[in-house]
Amino acid sequence: DKTPVTLLGLGAMGTALGRVWLDAGHPLTVWNRTPGKGDALAAYGARVADSAAEAVAASRLVVVCLLDDASVGEALDGADLTGKDLVNLTTGTPEQARARARWAEERGARFLDGGIMAVPSMIGAPEAGGYVFYSGSRALFDEHRATLAAPAGTSYVGEAPGHAALHDVALLSAMTAMMGGIVHAFALVRGERDIAPKEFAPLLSGWLVAMAGSVGQTAAQLESGDYTEGVVSNLAMMTAGNATLLDTAGEQGVGTELIAPFAELMAARLAEGGHDDEGTTGIVDMLRSPARRP
Ligand code: NDP
Repeated sequence: DKTPVTLLGLGAMGTALGRVWLDAGHPLTVWNRTPGKGDALAAYGARVADSAAEAVAASRLVVVCLLDDASVGEALDGADLTGKDLVNLTTGTPEQARARARWAEERGARFLDGGIMAVPSMIGAPEAGGYVFYSGSRALFDEHRATLAAPAGTSYVGEAPGHAALHDVALLSAMTAMMGGIVHAFALVRGERDIAPKEFAPLLSGWLVAMAGSVGQTAAQLESGDYTEGVVSNLAMMTAGNATLLDTAGEQGVGTELIAPFAELMAARLAEGGHDDEGTTGIVDMLRSPARRP
């Protein structure tokens, strides 16, 4: 007597989710726009619906994992959502999540938005540490928590429907900048025949892990309002050091487009005056203030 689940979207992620619910014994009804993608899950006992509306009718708990927010609107157009518990695991912006929450409530459904912090191979593998940010209806989350926890860990971040997407995108944005840094570092050493990428890699990843500790210091400074708290590498020193980073890129014939924008923001913060002893936390405020950006 496991909770029946309807799942719309059988891409890489949807298929991984569906397999876990089947393995855990949940009756599963699936639908995918392009037919045939449900065959593998059907072999494990899933019922494949002919239309999204038919799939939605099969279960109270309806999970959607589609490409983007527009595809959610298209797929659910014409489905009767009255009394449904709609869980949207499609990546989108916070504003899309808020609009989708209003849209679902107008149609008589409770709504929970989710942001998946995992790749498909981490789904159903708790040791991999993947989890999903959820926000929106607390009642829906509490009622279906066990079902939602089968594929990956759960982290409920508030009633505001946009908060799951905001957490998701904040983490992805930090990852994007980090990947930019990784690419830049490899570009710097790439031309050197005696620096093997595989020997350089552990040095780089070890350094990134060590520097990740600065996340906690930034948080402490934002909460205390004292941006000099605990600073060991100050803005004046780091801004001077940026010249070395940019000059080295020039010497190696490497473009600076990935690191120059952050260096410019640091210089602009320093130029405001009185911030020599801070770290980079003041740039949080600058980014939020268009008039102060370079
Ligand atoms: P895929 O590209 O593998 O699958 C996309 C799915 O969306 C397919 O089922 C596709 O159907 C469907 N789709 C696209 N457009 C429409 C439409 N207009 N109407 C109906 N269905 C549509 O993507 P994933 O499964 O990898 O990703 C799904 C969601 O999960 C995305 O929002 C993604 O950001 C998120 N996610 C994915 C991760 C990953 O590593 N894969 C990690 C974290 C989140 P069809 O088969 O007909 O094309």
